[in-house]
Amino acid sequence: MNYSFKDPSVSIAIVGAGGFIGSHLLDALIERTSWHIFAVDLDFNRLQHRLNHPRIEFLCDDLKNGSVATRIAACPIVINLAAICVPSRYMREAKEVIESNYNHPVALALACEKSGAWLIHFSTSEVYGKTSLEPCLLEEDSSSMVLGSVRASRWSYACAKQLTERYIASLQGLSWTVLRPFNFIGPRMDFIPGIDGEGIPRVLANFCAALLKNEPLLLVDKGVSRRSFTSIHDAIHFIFAVLSHREESLGQAFNIGNPENELSIAELADCMRSIYASLRNVSIDQVSSVQNISSSDYYGEGYEDSLRRIPSIEKAKRLLGYVPSEALDVTLRETLSWFIEHYRLVL
Ligand code: NAD
Ligand code: UDP
Repeated sequence: MNYSFKDPSVSIAIVGAGGFIGSHLLDALIERTSWHIFAVDLDFNRLQHRLNHPRIEFLCDDLKNGSVATRIAACPIVINLAAICVPSRYMREAKEVIESNYNHPVALALACEKSGAWLIHFSTSEVYGKTSLEPCLLEEDSSSMVLGSVRASRWSYACAKQLTERYIASLQGLSWTVLRPFNFIGPRMDFIPGIDGEGIPRVLANFCAALLKNEPLLLVDKGVSRRSFTSIHDAIHFIFAVLSHREESLGQAFNIGNPENELSIAELADCMRSIYASLRNVSIDQVSSVQNISSSDYYGEGYEDSLRRIPSIEKAKRLLGYVPSEALDVTLRETLSWFIEHYRLVL
C-alpha cells in the first residue's frame, strides 16, 4: 500500500528534523504533502520559519529517553536522521558516537517493530569503510565493507552504522528501508565554528567558512581523497521517491548519491575558490588560498580516511525510477551564496 501525499490523515515522524537534511525534508513535506508531521530534535534553530505551522508538532527531546521512541513509533512512517555524524567527533567522542548511531536507533527500531511503523533509517556511505583510490562503484548489496585499523576510533561511526543496518535487517517483524547518503551539500549545512557551533564541520561548510573569513582552505593530507557530492535537492527528491514506492523500498538499502559529481578535495577547493571569486566579483588571487595540513594535526591521532566513494545508482533507478540531476557547480554556487547571505551580519 502506497501513501497518498494528499491524504491529510497520514502522519510521519522526522527524528533529527532540526538538522541539515531534516530541515529541508520538513520544508518539502509541508510544501508537497498534506501530511501531519511529528518533528523531534534536540533543537530547532534551523526551523524558526516553521515553528507555528499548524501541521507540525514539535518535540524537543533526546532520542536516548526511552519513552520518546514509543511516541515516535506511534506514527505509521518514521524517518530517523538523528545522529552524531561529524568526523571530527568520531575519535574524541567514540562512546557518544556509538550510542547515537547504534543504541538509540536500535531502541527506535524495536519500538517500530512493535507498533508496525515503517522505519526509514539513515545510515551512511561510510558503511563501505576504508575504500582505496581505485575507481570502484559501491553497490548496495554486493560491495565489501573494508574496515581500517582495528584500533582507529575513526571507524566508530562506520562500525555503529553497519551494526545498526544489520540489526534492523535481522528484525523479522520490522518494515524497514535503509538509506546511505553520499556527502550531501547545500544551504543550512553544518555551522561556522565560533559563530553557531563548535568543532570541525564537514568539508564543504569548512571551506565556505574559510572563504568568508578570508582564511586558508585546509587540505587534509594534501586533499587527495575523493568524494561524490550530492545536492540536498536531489536527496529530498530521493526520499520522496522512496515514500511513493513503499513496496519496492521495503527490506532494501539504497545509496543516495551522484556519481557525476565526483572529485578530489583539492579539486573541490579550487572549484569553490573560483565560484566564490565570481560571486564576490574579484579575481581568484584575491580570495583565500589553500594550505596543506596532516590529518593527525587536524583531527588528532587515530584519524584514517575513506579515499574514494562513488555510488552505484542502478538499484535506485531500477526500483524507484530515480536519477539525480543537480550539477556540482550549480549546488556549490547556491551553497556559497547561502553562506554569504546567512552570515552577512557576522562575517
Ligand atoms: P545533522 O547533524 O545536521 O542532523 C542530525 C540531527 O539529529 C541534529 O539536528 C541533531 O540535533 C539531531 N540529534 C542528534 N542526536 C539526537 C538525539 N539523541 N535525539 C534527538 N535528536 C538528535 O546531520 P545531517 O547531515 O542532517 O544527517 C542526518 C543523517 O544522515 C545522520 O544519520 C547521518 O549519519 C546521515 N548521513 C548524512 C550525510 C550527509 O551528507 N549529510 C552523509 C552520511 C550520512
Ligand atoms: N577535509 C579537508 N579539509 C577540511 C575538512 C575535511 O581536507 O577542512 C577532508 C577529509 O579529510 C575527508 C574529506 O575532506 O577526506 C571529506 O570530509 P568530511 O568531513 O566532509 O566527511 P566524510 O566524507 O569524511 O564523512
